[in-house]
Formats: sequence, structure tokens, C-alpha cells
Amino acid sequence: MKTKNAKKPANLAHTGKNGYERISPADLKHSGEINKLYMDFITSAKTEREAHDEAVLLLEAAGFKDLDRSVKDGVRLAPGDKVYRSCSGKTLMAVTIGKKPLEAGMHIVGGHTDSPRIDLKQNPLYEAGGLALLDTHYYGGIKKYQWVTIPLALHGVFVKPDGKKVKVCIGEDPSDPVFCITDLLPHLAADQYKKTLGEAIPGEGLDAVAGSIPVAEKDRKEKFKYNVLKLLNGRYGITEQDFLSAELELVPAGHPREVGLDRSMVLAYGHDDRVCAYAGLKALLDLKGVPEYTSCVLLCDKEEIGSVGATGMASNFFENTSAELLNLTGDAYSELTLKRALHNSWMLSADVNALFDPMFPAVSEKKNSAFINHGVCVTKYTGSRGKSGSSDASAEFMAHIRRIFDKNNVIWQTGELGKVDQGGGGTIAWLMARYGMQVIDCGVGLFSMHAPMELAGKLDIYMAYKAYLAFLRDGRK
Ligand code: MN
Ligand code: MN
Repeated sequence: MKTKNAKKPANLAHTGKNGYERISPADLKHSGEINKLYMDFITSAKTEREAHDEAVLLLEAAGFKDLDRSVKDGVRLAPGDKVYRSCSGKTLMAVTIGKKPLEAGMHIVGGHTDSPRIDLKQNPLYEAGGLALLDTHYYGGIKKYQWVTIPLALHGVFVKPDGKKVKVCIGEDPSDPVFCITDLLPHLAADQYKKTLGEAIPGEGLDAVAGSIPVAEKDRKEKFKYNVLKLLNGRYGITEQDFLSAELELVPAGHPREVGLDRSMVLAYGHDDRVCAYAGLKALLDLKGVPEYTSCVLLCDKEEIGSVGATGMASNFFENTSAELLNLTGDAYSELTLKRALHNSWMLSADVNALFDPMFPAVSEKKNSAFINHGVCVTKYTGSRGKSGSSDASAEFMAHIRRIFDKNNVIWQTGELGKVDQGGGGTIAWLMARYGMQVIDCGVGLFSMHAPMELAGKLDIYMAYKAYLAFLRDGRK
């Protein structure tokens, strides 16, 4: 017979639970605020350059100073000081100096701000069939068929030989024209239908329509192309040769939208990985007081093509900047101290993961899938074909993460990227793990990753922010 005072046995089982069944009213309210700020951020940050510039604005408004100025002036840095450093206007590292010396390690949240897109070639403009067209070379892992017949905006820069930079943004203002890539009508698609999804739209078939009125000059050759050049010259003062020193990206035009009658989700271009990058940045901005360990946020470029190049995580930018920090905070700079600082660091590799999608249940293994609104997703290992290429986090570090998140009421879950041998992927985790630091993947789950518009849950976005904040201010106790 049951009595009122009977002690409830501890629940030995672990089962996932929807975050809306346990989120506090205060967190729910805060989630609305953070998501609104995030939607504003990705409205104006649709490329790595724009995300960098928006982040610098936010950092400077919060009192962060350019580290290069401290380096130049030899200004010493003390606990509580806030600095950032830019790499070529694309990659960014921001830091709040902690109470402990840098040698004790940093707490790092590292995300990326580049997203799959369609870049213009260096000689893009040509004409065919009464159209002016822009030839392209896609960037990152896209399903090419998804990028046709949608409005596209052109973002980027022309850089003139004298160094003058002309910023370009066409297609975001409601009064702007947009660009688009055509697709075949179903009436004539008998051959196309027989192709695989991957072959139906070839890479060279992703050229964007840019105009269809010929210039009114009798002896002019390539009149359609020339008219576009005239319009570009009128708007930006550029000539065809200036495309050679330009970086121009076609991205889905328009702003993010709330999804569902309950407005519980966000549909947007480039959640991967600006959602984690912004959540990390916002956590650093909101960090109150002086953290025990130096807090660091990385917003990296080039993750989607393998983190290569000067602005990718594989470059020495992070290491060099850590050396500068050490030089301005430590008693005496030494390479050994730098190596210790990196080795002793902890990192959340802040990147997105896949959500269990009821439209495609066959690719997931439910016990180890992330679900929408179950919170920020922690992934111990990524990789493919037998964990190949994975930076497998240690059980010991995972235990620290459990402690930090549970202590701070972070709603979180674990999730693998799909069934074994179904595919796979990676993040910047392994590049940081080379220093011997503890690294684990931790980010927001998405539907339709790498599609022109990706879908994420607001609760998960907010819990990423909350997780990163708890991690940055953790004192390892
Ligand atoms: Mn990513
Ligand atoms: Mn990606």
C-alpha cells in the first residue's frame, strides 16, 4: 500500500524530453529577446565579411578594443580587459582577459560565419539568348537543384587597384531588383527527370540572370552585357576589369521569418553557422564581471570549404593572436608558455548539427539523434565511415560539460550526425584539438542544413547562447 511519505526511487533511466516542458518562464521570455536580436543580426550579416563587420560594431559598442592598437602602443592587458582582433576583415577573435594567467588556458567558443552560397567567377559577365548572365562557381556543399528559381541577392566587394573598396549589396532592399537562376520547365524535362538529384543541375548550370535589355548603341558588340556594365558603372563606378579583384556572393534574398503559428522556429539563410557564431558572440558580450579563465570567441571564415586559407581555422591566426595576448599579459613571453596556454584551454566547437526529420526518418538513429526544441546539441564525435576524421572528445571533458550545463539549467541533448555509414561531416574541432586542448562540438540542430533557407528552433538557439555563456564563465570547480 502506498503512503504519502514513501520515498520516490531515483529514476535510473535517461530519456529525452521536449524543452518546452521544462523551460522556466524567465528563460522563455529571455529566449524571445535573444531570438529577436539574432534575427536582426542575420538580416544584415549574410556573408562572412558582413558578419565580421556587424560583430565588430557590437564588440566596440560593448567596450572591446582593437588588439592591434594595443600591440602597436605596447599597452598591457589586465584581467577584465576586452579586446578583439580581425583577420582580413573576415575572421575575428574576441577576448575578455580572465583572472588566471593565460598559461592556465582559455575557454573558447568557436563558430564560423561563412555559409554555402554561389560565388561569381572572376570573369563572370557574358550574354546568351537575349540575356546578360553572371557565371558562377558555387561555394560549400550545396544541393544545386535547390538554388534555381529563387530570388538571389548579390553581396560583396570590388577592390580597385588603388585600394579603394566598393561594397556591393543588390537585392535586399524591397525596392531593389534581384537575380535568379532558371530551371527547365517540366514539359521539356523528360531527359532531366532521368538524372540523379546531384546531376540534374550541373555546376556550370548555376549562372544567374542579370539583365535582358540591349544597350542602345548601334555599333556596340555584346549589347546585353554592355547594358549591365553601364548600370553597374552608374551604381558603383566599376568597369568589367574590376571583377578581377572582387569577391561577390549570390545569397538568398530577403530576411529571416518566424515559422509556425506558435512562431517557435526561425527560417533563414545561413544559420550554419551564424546561429552558433552569434550565440557565442552574444554570450561574450553579456559576460558580466571578470571570468576566471580568459574567455575567447572565434568567428571563422572558410569552414565550409575545409577551413583552409589565411582566414580559415587551419591558418596560424588563432595561435599568433594568442601569442600577442600572452605577450601583453604575461611576465615574459615564451613559446613554451604559449604551448601550455593552448594545451590547457577548453573549447566548444560551436557548429550546427542535423535534427531528426520526420520526412526522412531512415537516415537517423532515433536514440542518438537531436530533436527540435530538446535544447543545444552536444556531439562527442563526428566523422564518417567508422568515426574517420572525428575529433572525439574525451569522456572526462564530456563530464565537465554535463556539470557546467546542468548547474546552469541549460537544456541540452546529445546527437550524432545521422546513422552509421549514412554520410557524415566535420567541424573545426579537430584543428583546435591539435594543440592538445579539450574540444567538443556543441551547437544548434537544424532542418534542411545547407539549403537556401534553413530551419531552427528558437528554444535551441537560446539554449546555445545560455550554454556558451555558462561555459565561458565557468571556473572549472
Ligand atoms: Mn557548420
Ligand atoms: Mn556547414
